[in-house]
Amino acid sequence: MDFLWYCYIFLIGSIIGSFLNVCILRLPTGESVVTGRSHCPHCNHTLSFAEMIPVLSYLILRGRCRICKAPISIQYPLVEALTALLFLGAALRFGFTPYTLLLCIFFCVLIVLSGIDLRTMEIPDILHLWILGLSLAHLLLSPSFFREGIIGFFLLSVPMLLLSLVTDGFGGGDIKLCAVCGLFLGFRLVLIGFFISCMTAAATGLLLMLRKKAGGKTAFAFGPFLSFGFILSALWGDVLLNAYLSLF
Ligand SMILES: [Zn+2]
Repeated sequence: MDFLWYCYIFLIGSIIGSFLNVCILRLPTGESVVTGRSHCPHCNHTLSFAEMIPVLSYLILRGRCRICKAPISIQYPLVEALTALLFLGAALRFGFTPYTLLLCIFFCVLIVLSGIDLRTMEIPDILHLWILGLSLAHLLLSPSFFREGIIGFFLLSVPMLLLSLVTDGFGGGDIKLCAVCGLFLGFRLVLIGFFISCMTAAATGLLLMLRKKAGGKTAFAFGPFLSFGFILSALWGDVLLNAYLSLF
């Protein structure tokens, strides 16, 4: 029976993932995310239901528009598959609980945020507000989390803010993101997540420099790295911390 539930969650995740694709494209332009049918950006042909099945449609159409054969961005199936996998991960890790629901919404916000940050190098404030709302819901569910959350809110954001006054290393969007994610995840998990983000960003930067695609001063969006770290930490931060502590 559980297996069927997990299939159901995977399916729901992929459908919500296709909605997240719409949010990534339309939030920065201020277009409505609920009205207006999806259409091909090249030939404007309105997509039929069969062309909007998550992941499968992309594979069946071999990544091209059915009418004009223009290539469809790989972003669509990637976001759909990623959302489905993360929903599954949350359910497997935390069971069918209210916290799992909050975590799934948290992942959705981070996916949209990463997509927008990659495209525009900005993070819309509405996404920070969403995570703030999730944090408040989490505190209502577990009031004993208050102290951990409050410390988490300030732990990264204050040093980042001070640092941004002297250098221009962090954008305002990144600082706000670390604050609200700290409130939601608590200081332990947000710290582990931040560590993972920095390691991944440093490795990526090094790789890009080696391939001569970026100079020492090329700015790149940090939001996706933060999101990656926070997602990993939300799912397995405790496990990573315990494994690390058991080394001593
Ligand atoms: Zn087309």
